[in-house]
Amino acid sequence: MEKAPTGLRKRICIIGETNVGKSSLFNALLQNKTSIVSDTAGTTTDSVSKAYEILGFGPVIFCDTAGLNDNTPLGQERERATLDTLKISDCAVIVRQSAEPNEADKRILSVVQERRIPFIIVYNKCDLYTPPVGTLQVNAKTGQGIDEVIEALRKALTGKQPERLLDGLVHAKESVLLVMPQDAAAPVGRLILPQVQTIRECLDKHAIVGGVTPEELPDALKKQDYDLVITDSKVIKEVLSVVKPTQRVATFSVLFAKAKGNFETFLKGVDVIDTLQEGDFVLIAEACSHTTIEDDIARTVIPNLLKKYTKKTLNIEFSKGRKLPDDLSKYKLICQCGGCMLTRMGMLHRIESAEAQGTAITNYGLTITKCQMGDIHRLTF
Ligand code: SF4
Repeated sequence: MEKAPTGLRKRICIIGETNVGKSSLFNALLQNKTSIVSDTAGTTTDSVSKAYEILGFGPVIFCDTAGLNDNTPLGQERERATLDTLKISDCAVIVRQSAEPNEADKRILSVVQERRIPFIIVYNKCDLYTPPVGTLQVNAKTGQGIDEVIEALRKALTGKQPERLLDGLVHAKESVLLVMPQDAAAPVGRLILPQVQTIRECLDKHAIVGGVTPEELPDALKKQDYDLVITDSKVIKEVLSVVKPTQRVATFSVLFAKAKGNFETFLKGVDVIDTLQEGDFVLIAEACSHTTIEDDIARTVIPNLLKKYTKKTLNIEFSKGRKLPDDLSKYKLICQCGGCMLTRMGMLHRIESAEAQGTAITNYGLTITKCQMGDIHRLTF
């Protein structure tokens, strides 16, 4: 089975009141012949997610969520977590077991409408009431009506294929050189996801793609010219010192920020580095919880660069995992990782949360480029 990375899967949130049959529907979808269960695990932070391939659409993750209208002491906490999952979803399956929407359904609808999340409504346990005519009706226990749910999802997800990294930057027959340091931070025996995705997209575009470490870059450039050089941000200074002044140079970080985030917000955010004052709080945010290595980019490289560039003593804090801290208001700036494990909706939710609390946000790559080069405008966007 082909495995698509989590960040390229569209997230489908199965949501509704408690006991409407969400988990039964989740399981029925899992067994459906038109949606193939992958052995790829869902996100590490969400134990009720499962990766699928919807034939005729592509890779998705179904998320089963805790029910709303749970009056137990933990109910409020669970509802908040469920609505957070909904906010970073690309599509919602709202499960009901009554013809009329109840209070929980209204709260769900308010989120999907505000965030313009495509949704379908599925009526379950239809032997207990008369669902509206022409609606999606299932028996999640027997699997009846599941094919129609998959078909409705295919339609709801139309146009939501994974974002492209190189549109407008690379064209057929152009030559692209990737600069990929193979240092202690590089995993043994493989390339990292942003590099793999970029190579694949170059091939899809019928471009000519090559790769070097920074050490071999001068030799590679002596042998031939390239239309575009794409580099890891951490060696941007080295790369710019070797290429011609007219060479188009992009970073993986810029590609991902443009495809996934809100690039304009990140550009504004990186300028905030120039305004940082003694004692300001900066949050360095990683979207997964991998182990920390020596010379870790988050723990060591970025704090050192910020200190050197600003010449200020900053209060640098760190967060890891799917959620940002609830209170972001004390931070002057958030430096967000590339978010290869995040979907576009997940990244946008982070950006919106920061903006709503008046906190600037940028990403690692732009921060590194700014601190090394003084500005980021030498890069090709
Ligand atoms: S910290 Fe961010 S960029 Fe790094 S692997 Fe995790 S999600 Fe991807």
